[in-house]
Amino acid sequence: MAVPKKKTSPSRRGMRRSHHALRTEAYGECANCGELKRPHHVCSHCGYYDGREVVAAGDALKTAVYQ
Ligand SMILES: [Zn+2]
Repeated sequence: MAVPKKKTSPSRRGMRRSHHALRTEAYGECANCGELKRPHHVCSHCGYYDGREVVAAGDALKTAVYQ
């Protein structure tokens, strides 16, 4: 097994972790209903994408979108 020769210093550890921060999730307004939705995804509120209804809106929509 490969074993590190030296203990990682707090500075090195911090430099490695400088890329670990979480980013805010992207979102945009639905052109049909105005709800916030993920870009390039079917609107989870009205079922519209690119100006037309691709999933029937209703209770069945939530399960259809997130499958
Ligand atoms: Zn919508």
